[in-house]
Amino acid sequence: MKKSLPVIRRCISCRLKFDRSNLLKITKDKNLGILINKGIGRSAYSCKTEKCSKDSKFKKNLQKALKTTIDKKFYEIIAIEIQNYK
Ligand SMILES: [Zn+2]
Repeated sequence: MKKSLPVIRRCISCRLKFDRSNLLKITKDKNLGILINKGIGRSAYSCKTEKCSKDSKFKKNLQKALKTTIDKKFYEIIAIEIQNYK
C-alpha cells in the first residue's frame, strides 16, 4: 500500500508551513457557511494555538483568505475548539 504524501499548508497567522493534519482547517462551505475541519469550499489553515488564533493578523487574513466577513461569534468558537487540542 502506498503511503500518501503529507499535504503542506501555510498558517494564515504566522505564515509558517505545516502538515495539514497539524492545522485547524476553516472552510467556507457554500451551503453551510463557515465550518471547522469540515465542509467543502474555500479553506484557510491556522496553527492549533492561541498564539496564532488570537493574533490580530488572524482575523484579517482569515476574512481575506475566505473572501467573506466573519461574525465575531465564530472566533469564540475557534477559541473553544483550540482549547480542545491542549
Ligand atoms: Zn501559526
